[in-house]
Formats: sequence, structure tokens, C-alpha cells
Amino acid sequence: MKWISTRNNQEAVTLREVLFQGLARDGGLYLPEYTPEFQISSEDQSLPDTAFSFLKTYFTEIEEQNLQELLKNALNFEIPLVQITEDLWVLELFHGPTLAFKDVGARVMAGLLDMLYEGDAPLTILAATSGDTGSAVASAFHGRPKFRVVLLYPEGKVSNVQEQQLTTFGGNVTALKIKGNFDDCQKMVKQAFSDSKLRSVVSITSANSINVGRWLPQAVYYAHLWKQWQQLARNESPVVCVPSGNLGNLAAGLVACKHGAQFAHMIGASNANKPFPDYLNSGEFSPRSSVPTHSNAMDVGNPSNFERIEAMFHKNLDEMKKSVSAVSISDEETIATINSIYKETGYEICPHTAVGISAMRTYQKHHPAKGIVLATAHPAKFGDVLEHQAGITVSLPDTLRNALEKESLAISMNADYQKFSEFLMNLA
Ligand SMILES: *Cc1c(COP(=O)(O)O)cnc(C)c1O
Repeated sequence: MKWISTRNNQEAVTLREVLFQGLARDGGLYLPEYTPEFQISSEDQSLPDTAFSFLKTYFTEIEEQNLQELLKNALNFEIPLVQITEDLWVLELFHGPTLAFKDVGARVMAGLLDMLYEGDAPLTILAATSGDTGSAVASAFHGRPKFRVVLLYPEGKVSNVQEQQLTTFGGNVTALKIKGNFDDCQKMVKQAFSDSKLRSVVSITSANSINVGRWLPQAVYYAHLWKQWQQLARNESPVVCVPSGNLGNLAAGLVACKHGAQFAHMIGASNANKPFPDYLNSGEFSPRSSVPTHSNAMDVGNPSNFERIEAMFHKNLDEMKKSVSAVSISDEETIATINSIYKETGYEICPHTAVGISAMRTYQKHHPAKGIVLATAHPAKFGDVLEHQAGITVSLPDTLRNALEKESLAISMNADYQKFSEFLMNLA
């Protein structure tokens, strides 16, 4: 399998290049050159086995035995499908070490890079994070001597629990607390990648969801979901709703659909940051600054995977609309949904999952169907929102309680590219 840029399908590159390059040289995102012939089977398989049968058709450069071993280590937690009401299920993606779905992609990516990296100097992984990315990436690479991790997160815009998770790893992980918003952080990271002077001194790669090594493994849990759904002997195709920010998760779901996951429809659920819903309504894609919301991991004004989704539909808006809808949900609706699900069922949801459930319910009003919402984070990660806005006290899992007791090791920095590049140069 070779990989091509969304901006140029002439030049095909290897997986190795794709993993270490992150973004294509022309600024586009990588996609597989073709869709391999693989159909998700209905037979009962463990998550790592499902992952192996799926990903070996894409990651053909990795020796199968090594890939199988890697996936067994990376995907060593459950991803259960849980029914919460008559017509609503959630896929609990938050049972990994940092309690958010990003553990899936980050852990597979770390395994792939560790297997393939052969440089003499450590490779620096740069990640802009609105919360969950940073801790998932840091956790996945922490203690791997070939790598250093530098995280940039917006000061005051991540929850207390998240900040503690991000900033207490130490060792090969550095957290930079940036005076700015998430888009400032993402811009600094993008600028570093186009800075040839910096790159001649420091080996850097991206761990954002643009990287194929993180992005594509996410398709696996849609396969896993489809298997679980079939085993419930449901002959009705479900509608699947994905709480979305950079749209990597949604784009991965669309890959699973090419391999036999028969979803009736997919919904991208956004908060007040809604360039994707606006695009589906108007045909115009207009990136903008992000605004802060309760579902802060989705506060993205310029979703980086939009270009990938657009390319997957050959820039044909009508085709896209047949498979995908998008809904924007306000903070008020988010909190009302956290409350109503808790009252009806006793089930606690994080604000991102609440955006998804609210979008699903909006959709179901007009299109009666069974719905599955991806539960992207554990509610305890956003315990302050649940407590202050909804009066729900969530008990802390042990991993979070441990992080809260540690000392924060964050370094403060202005949203100033010059300062950032000097910092990276000094690491080399
Ligand atoms: C990152 C994140 C999202 C958004 O995922 P994208 O792939 O960027 O669309 C949603 N919910 C949570 C909890 C997240 O951490």
C-alpha cells in the first residue's frame, strides 16, 4: 500500500514516510492510494484480532507478526457497546490509560513509530492539544527512549484534571502552557513543520490526528462496533453519531463504511464551533477562530481533517450529504442532555458525549432509527463541568486521582513562534 496527498495524487509514498512526515510536503493530508479488499466479518473476534485483520491490509509494510504483537499491546482494553435507552447505545471508547478515545490512535501510532524509527537522535513528537490529545500521546510515548514529546496546550482552556494529566508525566515529556487558544497552538506546530531551518536541526513529527498512524487505527473500533451490533442480531442499520472537532474520528468511521460497516447514516456533532455543519448547509467551508465551550476537546475552528473528508467524497457535496449530516449543539443543550440522561438512566456522560447524544436526538426526531453515539471521554475527566453545571458528582478513577496528586511540570510560553522554535532548537 502506498499513500497519496489530498492535493496531489501523482506521487505515492511509503508508510514509513507518511508516519514520519505527518503532513504531506505539499501541505495536504495523506490517504491510502486505493481501498483494499477487506470486509469486516461478523465472527466473534477480540479487539486486537479485529484490528489486525483490518490494519494488515493497509499497513502492508509491517511484518504481520510484528503488527499483531503491536496491536495486542496497544489495544489491551475493552471498547464495549452499551445500551442506555430504548433506541440509544453508546460505544464506550474511554477505557484506555488516559480515559479518552484518543488512546486508541496514540497507542497504535507509538508502536508503529517505535518499530520503524532508526535515527540516531531522539525524534521529537509535537502535539497541539485542547486536552485529550496531549495526555494520550504523552502516555503512549512516555518511557520510550527513542522519543521526546513536546505538548502545547492553551492556558486556562483545559480542565484542571486534564491539565494535571498533561503536565505531570516528566521524563521524556515536556508540556508547554501557551498564552492563547487551541488554534494558536496548532498554528505554532504547523509553522514548525514548514520551518526548514528548524527541521535541519531537530527531527520532528506530528502526532495530531492528521497522522495516518493515529488516524487510521480509529477505523478499527467502528469495525468492532459493527461486529457487536450484528451480534445483537439487529437487522436494522444504526445511525452513528461522532462528537467532532478536527473530524479525524468521523473520517475514520467513513473508512470502516467502505469495508462493510453498514451504518444507515453518520452524524458529525459539533459544539458552537461549527464550520462543518455550516459547510454541509451552505457548501462554503469557512475556517474561523475557535470559541470556548464546555466540550473543549472539540473547540476547533479550522478542522484539520476536513480536507481528508472532502477528498474521500471527491469534493462532491451532494455525495457527502447522502452519508453524512452535521449538527451544532449549544452549551445549554449540552448541559440539559447531561442532566436528562442522568435523570432517565443514571448514566453519566462527558460534555462531548452529551453533544453527540443531543445531536442524535435532534436527528432521531425527524428520522426514527436506532442510534449509536461514540462516548469519547470518561465523565470524570470533565468532573468540574458535571459538578458545577449539572450538579452531578462523578467519582474519580484511580488513574486520575494519582495525576491530581502529582506536581505540574508545565513551562509557560507566549503564542510566539520565535520563542517556540528556539526552545526546540535548544532541545537538540
Ligand atoms: C479529540 C476529541 C474529540 C474530537 O475528535 P476529532 O477526531 O478531533 O473530531 C471529541 N471528544 C473528545 C473527548 C476528544 O478528546
